[in-house]
Amino acid sequence: ELDVVTFGETMVLFTPELTLPLEYSDRFYKQIGGAESNVAIGLRRLGHSVGWFSKLGNDPFGRYIHKFIRGEGVDTSRCIYTDEAPTGIFFKEKYSPTNVKVYYYRKNSAASLLSPNDLDEDYIARAKFLHLTGITPALSPSCRETVFKAIEIAKKHEVKIVFDPNIRLKLWNMEKARSVLLEIAKEADIILPGLDEGEILSGRKTPEEIADFFGKEKIVIIKMGEKGAYYRSGNESGYVKGFPVSQIVDPVGAGDGFAAGVISGILRNEPIFSAVKRGNAVGAMVVGVSGDVEGLPSSEELEEFMKGVIHFQG
Ligand code: ATP
Repeated sequence: ELDVVTFGETMVLFTPELTLPLEYSDRFYKQIGGAESNVAIGLRRLGHSVGWFSKLGNDPFGRYIHKFIRGEGVDTSRCIYTDEAPTGIFFKEKYSPTNVKVYYYRKNSAASLLSPNDLDEDYIARAKFLHLTGITPALSPSCRETVFKAIEIAKKHEVKIVFDPNIRLKLWNMEKARSVLLEIAKEADIILPGLDEGEILSGRKTPEEIADFFGKEKIVIIKMGEKGAYYRSGNESGYVKGFPVSQIVDPVGAGDGFAAGVISGILRNEPIFSAVKRGNAVGAMVVGVSGDVEGLPSSEELEEFMKGVIHFQG
């Protein structure tokens, strides 16, 4: 009985030690990166039970990812290894803390071979939430089919669907992204777009208009960076201010931390306003620390941060 099940590609990430063009970087930190596993780890640190799975290459990088995520206490029992393709990897190139370029080596990766047959219906059926991102359907036609099959399973068993569009225009073009992501959004119970993503998907400008576009029966929460977020749930709506961050060390992963915080709040039966506040706090904590998962707080750290007792700094 898991609180949340999620799946998608996690890659090994190499971050240069110094702020230099990648061409001149010769020392790297090895970390992992993947939106879905970030959310899984975030939720786990906050005390929830989470399952994450992917297709991993039967290689050192695949085993590293598996061990890392399992080491966080996430259930990885549904991970599948393949000899057909390697584990994807990517590199960051740091020009400044807020100006980071990313180079992917993920085409035809093991994760892109995920297919509907890899899904364990019972496993998803027993979860409270299925978390999906818009990255998975962009990886390959079989990944897209897997996402829709997972949606079908969730619907059949009344598992709530949380959807973060995570538009990645490096993976597909705007037109294709829009049509597939809107199809997924239609099936979701909770949608978590950034303001720019909301604009792309809906063709509308303001958070209020974007929330209207997705419809009253859904919870729509729109991320607005340092400003915080806007939410609408039934007849309730409003802006929730972000937490001040003393120094932005690494903006990547804020959205995933936000998702973990919001889902955590909802699992704790908090009112939606307070779940969004929890999301804002986790997002703010993540940008203060280098790496996507390193800044994800435990519940104690989160409580202290929200009370203003601790400030995270890289
Ligand atoms: P990502 O870069 O991970 O894709 P995103 O674009 O999905 O992020 P953002 O709006 O940048 O989402 O950030 C998500 C949430 O994290 C925000 O809604 C906010 O709560 C928090 N956050 C992000 N940046 C800051 C900041 N500079 N100061 C305070 N809070 C922040």
